[in-house]
Amino acid sequence: MDRYKKQRLRMVEYQIKSRGIKDPRLLKVMETVPRHLFVDEALRDQAYNDNPLPIDERQTISQPYIVALMTEALELTGKERVLEIGTGSGYQTAILAELADRVFSIERIAALAGGARKLLDALHYYNVAIRVGDGTYGWKEESPFDGIIVTAGAPSVPRTLLSQLTIGGKMVIPVGGRHSQSLIKLTRISEDLNEVKKEDLGGCRFVDLVGEYGWEY
Ligand code: SAM
Repeated sequence: MDRYKKQRLRMVEYQIKSRGIKDPRLLKVMETVPRHLFVDEALRDQAYNDNPLPIDERQTISQPYIVALMTEALELTGKERVLEIGTGSGYQTAILAELADRVFSIERIAALAGGARKLLDALHYYNVAIRVGDGTYGWKEESPFDGIIVTAGAPSVPRTLLSQLTIGGKMVIPVGGRHSQSLIKLTRISEDLNEVKKEDLGGCRFVDLVGEYGWEY
């Protein structure tokens, strides 16, 4: 077994299962996706540590447990169309691509979107579409989505995104101040955008969601 595989198995056991993540499909996928390829070569030995890591353009790849927590909240069975805001390294995108039917991911920084596209192609993730732009507008032409995951911290929930969710669809988004947020899971109940079930999954700290319905640059 290669050393990264060993590190991945340990990561899943001690950081993810031990904190209560149970979805067997998700656990399997996190044992498989090569997270070390999504970070700079100099950081590969830290890729399976219990923390976020810097990527290019002063952004971050999220802590493995947070990736697992957010993904589990979407309750994916394999048939879903999922929208991700904040492609970053593409690691979360790869996890979603393994667990859903199609993934649409939006990244505002072109260099990051390009890097993620190249790597996801090399790893044969052909069910992923990536677009450069302000994800707070969503991706109307491809909506509605069964799941929406926002991987940057927002001052409030963009209603544009809620409106692109199917009835019964789930959205997970960090909401709060610029330095700390709560991870919120929303389930859309009806056509009425005010009818949503809201659950607080706990505290977190993300880089800013920058855009029309996020923070100012
Ligand atoms: N999911 C990523 C991963 O696995 O590497 C981590 C993403 S990082 C924490 C947040 C990303 O959101 C950054 O790459 C940032 O450029 C992007 N971002 C911030 N505001 C955005 C917006 N309005 N639309 C699209 N992407 C945005």
